[in-house]
Amino acid sequence: MIGERIERARQAAGLSLRALAEQVDLSAMAISKYERNEVTPGSDVMLRLAEAMGVRVEYFFRQDTVELQNVEFRKHAALSKAEERQILADVQDRLERWHDLDDIFPPSAEMKFKLPKGLPQQIGDLGDIEAIAIKLRDHWELGHNPIPDLIDTLEENGIRVIVTPYIGKERFDGLSAKVNDMPVIAIGSEWPGDRQRFTLAHELGHLILHGRLSEELNEEKACDRFAGAFLVPGEVVIEALGSKRKWLEPRELLLLKLEYGLSIGGWTYRARDMGVLDKTTHGKFYGFLRKQGWDKQEPGPAYKHEASRLFEKRIYHALAEDWVGESKAAELLGIPLAELHACRNMECSSDIAH
Ligand SMILES: [Zn+2]
Repeated sequence: MIGERIERARQAAGLSLRALAEQVDLSAMAISKYERNEVTPGSDVMLRLAEAMGVRVEYFFRQDTVELQNVEFRKHAALSKAEERQILADVQDRLERWHDLDDIFPPSAEMKFKLPKGLPQQIGDLGDIEAIAIKLRDHWELGHNPIPDLIDTLEENGIRVIVTPYIGKERFDGLSAKVNDMPVIAIGSEWPGDRQRFTLAHELGHLILHGRLSEELNEEKACDRFAGAFLVPGEVVIEALGSKRKWLEPRELLLLKLEYGLSIGGWTYRARDMGVLDKTTHGKFYGFLRKQGWDKQEPGPAYKHEASRLFEKRIYHALAEDWVGESKAAELLGIPLAELHACRNMECSSDIAH
């Protein structure tokens, strides 16, 4: 129904009834009536609403095609309910567009998420997670190299990744959910790339480890261990740092961060987990980082943001093959038709902005 869609678009835009009413020059009561399907807005009101909420009018008429299940937020307690709703509404909108695209251009069988064979049923020790991370890397044919585009890797292996605008600042890292058995991971767009990658790999850890951990193990810690081991396998840690060290240089870790997309902090934990630093030295080294404030804000150049490309790639593929018209393509991309023309002429404003 149109009413629910208006409400969701409003939440996605982070607007209260009153704020929206002011923008479109109506009363909050009138909007509330639209949302409860008591009154259907006329086409000029629909246009004003769409403009104020940053959606296209088609959005209001789209069928609900996507139901998010098992939603788990990775957040700090202070994330407000309104922010949660705003994030969920945006994720839902992007998943609906994905769903529309799947109808036009169905995903291949290889793009279905599958766990590697032979995973242990019961994991009793955090150290066992190292081998599981390697197993998944082998399954996805990643070798031991740095993973340049983690989102691309996840998407090609059947995990739907949504990059949502920076809502709830410092309070929202990401979320995981399911849509028709397909795993979904959403992350905030503005976190540094290394932090986004850790969140993605941590959520991947939940997909692999959930239900396999013995009672003594904490799932969050296990997923952190998985994330580190997946981003930088143990062998690589030892190759990069040496098997035994008495201290580490922050700049050495910065260079490794830029190579592997794992934070400086993350590298110190890998060093400890692989026995390169003993526990006491790791504690001292971490204390040294904390003293400089480098545990909160890492020094040196940032690792590039992760971006999702598969959705856009598949739309242009579908355009080239005439499986989709330009107006539908623009709607799926959420851009004006003129912008789509510019993009087809290789003059996308998003490329110029970067
Ligand atoms: Zn978690």
